[in-house]
Amino acid sequence: MTKFIILGCGSSVGVPWITGNWGKCNKKNKFNKRTRCSAFVKKGNLSLLIDTSPDIKNQLLTNKIKDIDYVLYTHEHADQTSGIFELRPFYWKKKKKINIFANKETLKDLKKKHGYCFKGGQGYAPILKGNLVKQNFSVSKKKDIIKIKSFYVKHGEINSTAYVIDKLAYISDANAIFEEDYKKLKNLKYLVIDCLKFNQHPSHFNFDEAITISQKINPKKTILTNLHSDMDYNFIKNSLPKNVLPAFDGMILKI
Ligand SMILES: [Zn+2]
Repeated sequence: MTKFIILGCGSSVGVPWITGNWGKCNKKNKFNKRTRCSAFVKKGNLSLLIDTSPDIKNQLLTNKIKDIDYVLYTHEHADQTSGIFELRPFYWKKKKKINIFANKETLKDLKKKHGYCFKGGQGYAPILKGNLVKQNFSVSKKKDIIKIKSFYVKHGEINSTAYVIDKLAYISDANAIFEEDYKKLKNLKYLVIDCLKFNQHPSHFNFDEAITISQKINPKKTILTNLHSDMDYNFIKNSLPKNVLPAFDGMILKI
């Protein structure tokens, strides 16, 4: 069994914002407290992290995750990458570099902004090894193997990477899926998809678009993520078709 945990399902500012603004979200509902998007996959002893959000340390502590073997990155934006520095204790624990996987543009950006993680410096050892994602690849630890498919999705002016792991697709930041890639999204148990807000946005799916995409892909269940502060959990849950659910931090999906 493969377990998928949504560590964070908030937009780039999370809910509440750092200023204490809860927007339209009811602060009394714990499902409205959202950290920035990251996810975790566990299969046997193999631990795979997707993105290192600014909240990654608390996300891992809250979910009692003590090992990270590999990290996949969806794209280079700060809300998915700025926690990269927190990976150091996993390097100390393993005593070897952690393999990260990212698309070409993201890898270039990470190496530019966080070069010390890859090259070391000032007496510190490098902690990460950068690898380019392929369309089909796998990560493993002894007998446990996770097979991964990846493809580009449009995310405003850049492309982000969508990942398909077993019968789950993770598309946390996107405003369009290229037509030729829909065939990679057949027979899904879960589609985890960007649904930023009700209004249109140049780099994210909005509420209506996320539902339309869900109906087109037709997975068993669709989980909406990257939810901004105008998306109250109960309000959106009551407005959705039966097989579409808003994510919440700590949501576990069995795939
Ligand atoms: Zn982004």
